[in-house]
Amino acid sequence: MYAAIELGGTKICCGIGHGNNEFIDTQEIETREPQSTLSEVIEYLRQAESQHGALRGLGLASFGPVDLNQDSATYGSILKTPKPNWSNYPLLQAMREQFDIPMAITTDVNAALLAEHRFGAARGVNNAVYVTVGTGVGAGVMVNGQLVNGFLHPEVGHIRIPTGGVKGCCPFHGDCLEGLASGPAIHARAGRAAQDIPIEHPVWNAVASNLGDMCTNLLMILSTQRIILGGGVMSKEGLLDKIKHQLHDKLNDYLPIDECTRGLDSVVVGASLPDGAGLSGALLIAEQATK
Ligand code: ZN
Repeated sequence: MYAAIELGGTKICCGIGHGNNEFIDTQEIETREPQSTLSEVIEYLRQAESQHGALRGLGLASFGPVDLNQDSATYGSILKTPKPNWSNYPLLQAMREQFDIPMAITTDVNAALLAEHRFGAARGVNNAVYVTVGTGVGAGVMVNGQLVNGFLHPEVGHIRIPTGGVKGCCPFHGDCLEGLASGPAIHARAGRAAQDIPIEHPVWNAVASNLGDMCTNLLMILSTQRIILGGGVMSKEGLLDKIKHQLHDKLNDYLPIDECTRGLDSVVVGASLPDGAGLSGALLIAEQATK
């Protein structure tokens, strides 16, 4: 039996299960400051062990940025984050002090990509990107079947794209992609919350153009075979189609996508595991950590 933990900004999902995405039990815990939040997580896992037997491995899928460089002194720590008290928190170490079992850590979006690759929309391809567009914009990137990690995991949310003169609201860069197309950015641009803006509103064309630029760059740089778009903003009906139209125009038939595949509909897709993809990915890495 393995344990999976997905840390989000507002809630932490915990679960125990077997391989192949078979969960026995899951629980949600509100995200507060690290100590009290993780005490609750640890208590849940201890209870699960007493009910179901010893845990063999543990997988952590966390909001970023996370230090994923195994040679680093701060491997497994949360890096600088606006979330109060979580900056520099040694997440992996804190769990290792409690459980002497194999453990692995990755970002929530990397975990979601692993789950989509094994069970969902990225099955059958080895070059894929999972993008979440919500409170922020984040992405996991897989090249030749491996997740990409260098200095840091890729930070697709902070790429620079044409802004159309919009100032943007990223606290680090202003008009980066996240500063233009995240939920709060759309709210700032249109003066009301993204979910309340009808799809006919011009801000959606602007946001679709921004996300179309992102897709163009991902295709040009990575020659990625699948871009999976998930997150709260992407639940807006009609947005995915608008992005594909923008992408089609921006590519201007430059890439041989129509000849290679069934066209953009098979390249740019919605998330197929909308709830719990990160938790499923955490269970996958827990299993891998024991091998
Ligand atoms: Zn930024």
